[in-house]
Amino acid sequence: MFSSHVTYSSKLTLYAKVMEDLFEKRDFGMYIRFINDTNTAMESWIKMYVSDYCFEIVESGKNRLEKQANEILEDSIEALIKCVKKNSLSTKDISFQVWLQNFYNCAQGIVPFSETVFDLFDMKEVEVTDFIQFEKKVIKNLEEVQKSHERIFRTGNLESLNSLVEKPHISLAKNILGCTKRCPLCYVTCIKTSDHPGEHSAPYHYPLGVAGYHDEKTKELMMETCNVLCAGELSFRNYDTYHKWYKYKDYRSVDEYYKSWNIAPNTSLEASLYWQWVFCQFYKEFAEYHMAKCNKIPLKWKNIVEEDVKNSIKIKFNDSS
Ligand SMILES: [Zn+2]
Ligand SMILES: [Zn+2]
Repeated sequence: MFSSHVTYSSKLTLYAKVMEDLFEKRDFGMYIRFINDTNTAMESWIKMYVSDYCFEIVESGKNRLEKQANEILEDSIEALIKCVKKNSLSTKDISFQVWLQNFYNCAQGIVPFSETVFDLFDMKEVEVTDFIQFEKKVIKNLEEVQKSHERIFRTGNLESLNSLVEKPHISLAKNILGCTKRCPLCYVTCIKTSDHPGEHSAPYHYPLGVAGYHDEKTKELMMETCNVLCAGELSFRNYDTYHKWYKYKDYRSVDEYYKSWNIAPNTSLEASLYWQWVFCQFYKEFAEYHMAKCNKIPLKWKNIVEEDVKNSIKIKFNDSS
């Protein structure tokens, strides 16, 4: 089994974790969802990892999010109540508007909020002539806010993550996924950061059969990667080329998007051990899904040892991060 403790310090380590989990699950449907819409699939994986991390029980039956959020919440509410009480010392000769402004000024440094926070105090219904009563009501409401948030975090489900202003899974996805453009041929995702300068690129490309490319005569899915094909003389056609034939090595001439990709021609960059294994595991499913055939898997792919596949993920992703 793989370690469940992974630091998602980069796009590569996150991809490694997803590759490991897909490997463990052995579910063709999950691979297809990953290949067809990598970005959405990665966002789902991130959401699941964040959820696992946040709701892991860490202390006295409390989950991590509950523990940390409650500590912050407790401090903030306590400080806000102090603001209310501090204000009450000087309510003799001030108007309610001044009281409000004083409280707002004091509270600004504690929690970042806009003046809409006054809805908390049920302002519309309060006839503020009695400051003492009003302040009691504010304190009671603040305590209610604390209790209701504690309840939300205790539930330990994704809804409590969605209730946060800064949603951790969304921030993480935004920061880590970077450029989400995909190779126009095999659909592998660009490895660079968001809005990177220059061309899109990936350290490795999938065997093209993953995306359904096959020999039109034999219907056999292609086992070669984009790199290998771009170093040869074979041609392809697809929806983007309006079914006109282009040599793989001339892929850049299809359109501006194809031109924006740097696919290094290299006959030695064959399919990674991981994708060789995936193909061997699901060759029937790939053939059926793409309405093609998959009878020509190289013999050496069939002899791959699972332990080597696991190790290859670590070498390919983690060591280069
Ligand atoms: Zn590719
Ligand atoms: Zn890119």
